[in-house]
Amino acid sequence: MRSITLGKTGITVPQNAFGALPIQRVSVDEAVSLLRNAYDGGMRFFDTARAYSDSEEKVGKAFEGMRSKVFISSKTQATTREKFEQDLDTTLRNLKTDYIDIYQLHCAARCYNSDDEIYNALVEAKRQGKVRHIGITAHKIGVAEEIAESGLYETLQFPFSYLASERDIKLVERCREKDIGFIAMKGLSGGLLTDSKACMAFMSSYNVLPIWGIQKQKELDEWLSFFTNEVTMTDEIRAVIEKDRNELLGDFCRGCGYCMPCTVEITINQCARMSQMIRRAPSQNWLTDYWQQEMLKIDSCVDCGICMTRCPYELDIPSLLKKNLKDYKEILAGKPV
Ligand code: SF4
Ligand code: SF4
Repeated sequence: MRSITLGKTGITVPQNAFGALPIQRVSVDEAVSLLRNAYDGGMRFFDTARAYSDSEEKVGKAFEGMRSKVFISSKTQATTREKFEQDLDTTLRNLKTDYIDIYQLHCAARCYNSDDEIYNALVEAKRQGKVRHIGITAHKIGVAEEIAESGLYETLQFPFSYLASERDIKLVERCREKDIGFIAMKGLSGGLLTDSKACMAFMSSYNVLPIWGIQKQKELDEWLSFFTNEVTMTDEIRAVIEKDRNELLGDFCRGCGYCMPCTVEITINQCARMSQMIRRAPSQNWLTDYWQQEMLKIDSCVDCGICMTRCPYELDIPSLLKKNLKDYKEILAGKPV
């Protein structure tokens, strides 16, 4: 397994890391077991966030007594010094530690700098030793580019998968030039990509650290298998990637859910990508009465536009929903998938 050094932080870990968002959906015992199995299998980097309900506590419980053997990053959505300090104290308590390897401003709306109290609070936390390195996460490419150019952060976390655009790839390259560690989130593009081997081979071609969102032992086993069966890019994998890119590129919903809640309770993060999901997973799962009712809610969209102000990918959500509903109705009427 190739190792990655996260820019100036000097943190060097196997290029195969654990995204701890999904463990908030399993019991404490299951989460602790998954995290320890991940460590035993070779993973050394674990990414959590204040916003992931009890994920930090589960990470803290799993690695109590072995803190120095793992690298832990977390995040805060705070925008004021006061909230930042509260969050940082809570995170340290949850993680049962007196330092965080990388503390990141979560889903930044812009590149915060020394004119902003939140940036200064982060720098101060590093000076105090509570935080070893400072990072930031973003979803909008323009914001991410500004962060990379600023050189103010030691790491940048950004969505990166084999559906990446040329611009995304240039961002990765720019981070490498500026010695900024690149943490790749959404390596499966919100569940749209299902070929883990192709995803891993793609990541191994770049200077990035993928954090795979893991909820089940079966998923973990798949990622851990790459420690023993290393994958690299081959013509066969290139063909898989090319096929998926042809099918999926364009304005597609990543399923992140940032646009929700919807004014009329449409489950946007599933319904806006139904056309892809229904073709990439057993379609019967998406044709149940439940999902038919959910999809029909699209007809009640009042075009309020609130969702669009929240979507980091600036998608025209009402149009995307309508396009998905039209396709879904045609499938229900017998169109082959
Ligand atoms: S525009 Fe439609 S989908 Fe978006 S929040 Fe409003 S009602 Fe919901
Ligand atoms: S529409 Fe945008 S914000 Fe909403 S789930 Fe999809 S990608 Fe995320």
